[in-house]
Amino acid sequence: MSEFTPMMTQYLQIKKERPDTILFFRLGDFYEMFFDDAKVASQILNITLTAREAGKDKRVPMCGLPYHAAESYIAKLIKAGKKVAICEQVEDPKTAKGLVKREVVRTITPGTVLSPTLLEDKIHNYLACINKDKSGIGLAFVESSTGEFRVSEFRGSPSGNNEAKLFAELTRIGPKECLIPECLRDDTAFSAFAKDNRISITLQDDWIFSLDTAQSTLCGFFGTATLDGFGCSHLTHGIGAAGAIIRYLKETQGDSSLSHITRVSPYISEEFMAIDPASWRNLELTKTIRSEEKTGSLIWVLDQTITAMGGRMLRSWIRQPLLNVEEIVYRQEGIEVFCQASILRETITPCLKSVHDLARLAGRIDAGLANARDLIALKESLLVVPNIKIALRPHQGRVMDDILLGLDELRDIVELIDSAIHDTPPLSLREGGIIKPGYNQELDELHSMTRDAKGWILRLQQEEIKRTGIGSLKISYNKVFGYYIEITKANLHLVPQEYIRKQTIANGERFITPQLKEKEVQILSAGERITGIEYEIFMGVRAEIIHKIDRIQQVSQAIAMLDVLVSLAKAAVENDYVRPLINDSDTILLRDARHPVVEKVLAGERFVPNDTLLDQSDNQILIITGPNMAGKSTYIRQVALIVLMAQIGSFVPAKEAEIGVVDQIFTRVGASDELIKGQSTFMVEMIETANILNNATSKSLIILDEIGRGTSTFDGVSIAWAVAEYIHNHSSLKARTLFATHYHELTELELLFKGVKNYNIAVKEWGDKIIFLRKIVQGGADKSYGIHVARLAGLPKEVIDRATEILDNLEMESIAGNGKPKLAMRKEKKEKYVQFSIFDFAQAINDKVVNTLKQIDVDNLTPLEALNKLHDLKKMV
Ligand code: ADP
Ligand code: MG
Repeated sequence: MSEFTPMMTQYLQIKKERPDTILFFRLGDFYEMFFDDAKVASQILNITLTAREAGKDKRVPMCGLPYHAAESYIAKLIKAGKKVAICEQVEDPKTAKGLVKREVVRTITPGTVLSPTLLEDKIHNYLACINKDKSGIGLAFVESSTGEFRVSEFRGSPSGNNEAKLFAELTRIGPKECLIPECLRDDTAFSAFAKDNRISITLQDDWIFSLDTAQSTLCGFFGTATLDGFGCSHLTHGIGAAGAIIRYLKETQGDSSLSHITRVSPYISEEFMAIDPASWRNLELTKTIRSEEKTGSLIWVLDQTITAMGGRMLRSWIRQPLLNVEEIVYRQEGIEVFCQASILRETITPCLKSVHDLARLAGRIDAGLANARDLIALKESLLVVPNIKIALRPHQGRVMDDILLGLDELRDIVELIDSAIHDTPPLSLREGGIIKPGYNQELDELHSMTRDAKGWILRLQQEEIKRTGIGSLKISYNKVFGYYIEITKANLHLVPQEYIRKQTIANGERFITPQLKEKEVQILSAGERITGIEYEIFMGVRAEIIHKIDRIQQVSQAIAMLDVLVSLAKAAVENDYVRPLINDSDTILLRDARHPVVEKVLAGERFVPNDTLLDQSDNQILIITGPNMAGKSTYIRQVALIVLMAQIGSFVPAKEAEIGVVDQIFTRVGASDELIKGQSTFMVEMIETANILNNATSKSLIILDEIGRGTSTFDGVSIAWAVAEYIHNHSSLKARTLFATHYHELTELELLFKGVKNYNIAVKEWGDKIIFLRKIVQGGADKSYGIHVARLAGLPKEVIDRATEILDNLEMESIAGNGKPKLAMRKEKKEKYVQFSIFDFAQAINDKVVNTLKQIDVDNLTPLEALNKLHDLKKMV
């Protein structure tokens, strides 16, 4: 190292501690990157890679960018999954002795970004942390842009289940970055999960996660003696994770900018409806499977929020449907108010449009990143609060009361900003023009002095014109010479003696006078003082607001809640939803229910509503059959989505709905109905089915769409049968289940099990076409319409004709052993399926054995005959 220049040595020392970040090294007006950082960054940022002298005979790769443009470059690097450390000059180069001191002031990582260019308004940007050992898993996550900080853990169940729960939870949260202890470096399940979900992993030393270390980190951070006050001291794994998060934030953001994280709130994921990752994807809650876009997802239908905070809150509601009837009813009451009061909805909407992202503004103010425009945005947002209150006040109810209570007008903050900050300030804090006149006396005096001085110069110009008789004499200013007097060529002979020549230009010359220079010093130093004082005042105003951050956060919460309720009310009114009856019964009863998304995207066709009745007695498992494209998948998903909507508090697309709260929704979609890339789809299908059977409870809702499809027919039907039977018979399971299948054999289940009901989606034949009626009716479907569907899909006529021919052949050749065509057996399924139904088959053998035994005349049997009979019986079974 000694061969490097002192500056490069300094660089290398700082870089050594941050091998996994790209180091932005401040040199004057530039951030420079060196060595591999320079190579990597120049590629990603598309900037020139050069080299720099770094010591005797040493040149190292380098690239750089101007400091004021850094933000957009940082954004690019973060999007590419990199971390960026910002290293600043921390002393004034003018006064520093020798090498300027430099320090890393901030590290920006995917999970800790605060810059608006990197944050999506209505989407959380979480940093998560996992702490895992044999006895359990701790999970903590934080959104540093808003200060939300939560901790939870999974313990008690077998370790495999803990992991499934963790993945389900991480799927909901959708963190951008996740901290894990070194010891999990080789955890393949987690690495695969993170890769699939595009979560950037950051390793941390194991000791950071120990309970003692974490506890003292957290207590130190919050300034408390224990964590009891947060109600999370029992979450020992969770605390390990939470402590590691705070440590990481302090390291990356610096201590001072974290005071908007005021508490850590425990939560138990068991308080919310569990939705496993597969269901999350299958139900297309926040994005579609095919295009991964919001359009076409449930949130797309429900989200009419206006503010960014409201958008995020709605998203977390969808992420965490409630289980508690009271809490659900509370939200319903709020929505009801806005459903009924259309004028109120219309008054609130424009108010919400003036509200900026208060939660993130608070975060930026606290992090010392807010500029004057941010404060104006804060003021504008708060100014509408009184109007909102006036609009809400006439409306009754506890939800209204709570919102009103949260809507602090924050007059002090509004007045402070209004009196101090210009209404249209510049972006920069260093160039003045921020502080309003009348706020600070010294500033006003300086301003009037410069104004006077400028007037003085104007007057001087006039006097000099008079004195010299040069009509075109002009006093101007530029950065190099300051103030000067400009005289055109034609008038040079009139220039007075005492003018000092400074510069010759094309059509004249420029002069100064001592008097002019004296004034100039005054003006310039006043200007410098002004920007300095303005900066100080601004910092003071911002600091004062920091003390009130939690009040801003409270207003932000209230507005978010209001926004979400209005949004759900709008969706309910526009789409003709009904308020469902929520209770703890085992019933799900829907009349004229629709699929919330499909009904909106059907072009031209009318969506046909359908009924559903599920309970734990006679209607526990509904087997839904019907030809391809009949609407089976749509129907079963519609039930799941309606339940989920109901439990977030929303109204639902139906004429009438009763919903006995569901603790978990499981969906399993048959392999060929799904689009997983490059995996053994059948294996995935079976793993997910296993997860359902192991974790579902009697309060769960299970949606099975064509399971068993990924394997041979016999395998498939056997597995499907056994799964249905297990759900029905297992006393701890007894989950309400919708089972869409093209295996007609499964309709036999109804005969054997009390809780199974057959339904099919009606179709009508019309010549050689079929018409989809979309109506669900009792009973099993009994004909495959594959070829009809193929025709509808536009397969060439030749193929259709040939397929019909082959089908005919098959049917002709399918003569069963008893001389009857197998085709006929289908029609008389009940009697002929004896040999095919697994249960009836066993029964038939029993009957046969019993009959044989009955016919034996034991008294007249020789020992040899007896042995032979025994041999026959044995063969039968
Ligand atoms: P299946 O699972 O039986 O093959 P889908 O549920 O995928 O059928 O439905 C096929 C298409 O039929 C859907 O994409 C939708 O356009 C339409 N559809 C389904 N249900 C209805 C309904 N109730 N009313 C109107 N159209 C429907
Ligand atoms: Mg389907």
